[in-house]
Amino acid sequence: MYPMRHTRLKPEIPVLAPQQRAGVLLPLPLAGAYDYKLPVGVNAARGALVAAPLGNRESLGVVWGAAEGTVGDNRLKIAEPLEGAPSLPSSLCDFIDWVAAYTLNPPGAILAMALRSRQAFEPETRRIAYVKGDLVPSRLSEARKRVLAVAEDGLARSVAGLAEDANVSPAVVRGLIAARALKTTDLPEFQPFATPDPDFTVRDLGADQAQAAVALTDAVARGNFSASLLDGVTGSGKTEVYFEAVAEALRRDRQILILLPEIALTMQFLERFAARFGVKPAEWHSDLTQKERRRTYRAVMRGEARVVVGARSSLFLPFTELGLIIVDEEHEQAFKQQDGAVYHARDMAVVRARIEDCPIILSSATPSLESHANAINGRYVHLTLPARHGAAAMPAVRIVDMRQEKSLDENSKWLSQPLRDAITQTLAAGEQAMLFLNRRGYAPLTLCGACGHKLTCPSCSAWLVEHRYKKRLACHQCGYEIAAPQTCPGCSATGTLLACGPGVERVAEEFAHFFPQARYAIASSDTIQMPPHTGPLETQGPLRAMAKGDIDVLIGTQIMAKGHHFPNLTLVGVVDADLGGSDGDLRARERTFQLLHQVSGRAGRAEKPGLVLLQTRNPADAVMQALARGDRDGFYAQESEFRQRAGAPPYGRLAAIIVSGYDGDAVREIARQLGKAAPAAKDVKVWGPTPAFYALLRGQTRERLLVQAAKGVDVQAYLKAWLALVKIPNSVRATVDVDPISFF
Ligand code: ADP
Ligand code: ZN
Repeated sequence: MYPMRHTRLKPEIPVLAPQQRAGVLLPLPLAGAYDYKLPVGVNAARGALVAAPLGNRESLGVVWGAAEGTVGDNRLKIAEPLEGAPSLPSSLCDFIDWVAAYTLNPPGAILAMALRSRQAFEPETRRIAYVKGDLVPSRLSEARKRVLAVAEDGLARSVAGLAEDANVSPAVVRGLIAARALKTTDLPEFQPFATPDPDFTVRDLGADQAQAAVALTDAVARGNFSASLLDGVTGSGKTEVYFEAVAEALRRDRQILILLPEIALTMQFLERFAARFGVKPAEWHSDLTQKERRRTYRAVMRGEARVVVGARSSLFLPFTELGLIIVDEEHEQAFKQQDGAVYHARDMAVVRARIEDCPIILSSATPSLESHANAINGRYVHLTLPARHGAAAMPAVRIVDMRQEKSLDENSKWLSQPLRDAITQTLAAGEQAMLFLNRRGYAPLTLCGACGHKLTCPSCSAWLVEHRYKKRLACHQCGYEIAAPQTCPGCSATGTLLACGPGVERVAEEFAHFFPQARYAIASSDTIQMPPHTGPLETQGPLRAMAKGDIDVLIGTQIMAKGHHFPNLTLVGVVDADLGGSDGDLRARERTFQLLHQVSGRAGRAEKPGLVLLQTRNPADAVMQALARGDRDGFYAQESEFRQRAGAPPYGRLAAIIVSGYDGDAVREIARQLGKAAPAAKDVKVWGPTPAFYALLRGQTRERLLVQAAKGVDVQAYLKAWLALVKIPNSVRATVDVDPISFF
């Protein structure tokens, strides 16, 4: 049942004495573990699963440690062990404790993330299947003969499987079952995961690639904790290089976790993985069905799933033989979970690697300033791939100064003459282009030309975005939608509403005006959906059309900026390079640079050289200049110096408290009290409260406080002491965000 594999020795956790008291952690946001009695003689080691009575229901629980013993024995309830259920690995329990302490969340809230499939602990059911039976019917039709021929190989198949393989109707199969020419057998509940083959295909690596690959395979061979930053330009073959480390870990019978920032990227990744290793890896993300979840969770826990590719939640899976973690596009903001327990999956992945004592690889063409600093100061191994693979060169980047552009008028608001000329040339050469604008819909703001009324969301401090194809206005924060109105809700005038600013739909409209013959598609989260929302064929339609050459131009948001490889794509036009804004928060410049660099990196990835045009109103801006000169390291050095002077991360620490609730007055009052109560401490400054960027979000008022501290300060201890000083009523929530990366 449980395949024997090389398992490292873990410190033995003493089985509690055969009485029966234990601290049991429930997957609920309670203060800590609760004491329960356990029946004598059952497994009471840390990680054992139990059914724990709670009020008048029963909850899944996990033995977490010794009982506190403050409650009298006769008042304790009895938790029953889950028959036959495997325990959570103790390293996962340690990880949960660590994340809870770091993020200031109750450990039960983190445990809930690790128990995403409660059904995985239920007894396994078996599936009925059929093999060749003992009788051969006297009269055999052609259809029946075909079925028996298929069954000749002795493999167990379902009715549907037999019918399909023999190309007959299920009724034919059932007839054979009734005639006892087929007999039942049973199969495991789920199809087992196939084991990836490390040597399925072999790549000839370039010199830089080979050097990086050796460093990584050595780290896997040593097996203990180490962190490497795989820092290579877009198209340098980072994926190919870390696949070598995956292969090494497979050869050593270790499990491997590959974290990707978005599910949208997993589809093509699975195929690429299969091309290298012969089979697809297991996947884990929010779109899995309950059944897939149960199958994968179990297989991970039993070591049957060797490689898991997933979004941030896969970090909490119960690996028992984890030997390598990879975080691809490690700079991505999507790794930060903002709802519920606030945590950064990249940072916590490093923690998990440390606890599992295995290597971790962070990969990016534009690393976060944090990881980059760690690589420069030697805490991470710094592996660089300075050139693209093969004949491909880095694209040329040119700035188009939109303030000087004479070509812009009523008909051409968003596409400048230089950009249009470049598109014309690209299309004439039979090549592909991409127009990037990080804004969904048609226009971000609708305004009444008569009275100045702006259409805003009733529940958020946000404008309603026009979606012209759908003829609707939508709030991108909460999903509120209305039909596009004909009259102004402010002054009731008709025909006075104006669309202000562009979204991708509007750029597409202008594009179609200038290039009526060109084949194009819009790619945004409105047009690209993942199963189960659409059929598998619908998935990522525009991206596939681009890859197959069915379209010439892709007009889209950041959804197409990452990871994609279109060999015939030679032109990237950034419609509004200023959109990230340089005035916003501390990370705005870093983010803008990373995003535009990634987008630019889509151009010229094969033999044909690429060109990037950046339309901007701030041509002298450091971000634009660094992009135009291809001087990433210069930008990082400058940005680091700026952060150092400001005492900002990674040279100082930040933590935020977001106070929120439906009662605006209560929220403001608690925020004010928190502001007043902030303890004075050495090297700690507190800013705020101030209304958050979205002062109203989904109907809740939001206020923010920000802690800025020197590197050595125990921010968690400070926050705990502080929060203990203010009584927060049930109607108000105070969410802690340690190491905030967005300031909304
Ligand atoms: P990155 O992840 O750094 O952007 P990729 O790993 O996606 O780069 O590589 C870019 C392209 O070059 C991919 O199509 C990849 O298959 C190809 N490639 C990279 N290295 C090699 C190699 N050594 N042999 C063959 N193809 C390679
Ligand atoms: Zn809203």
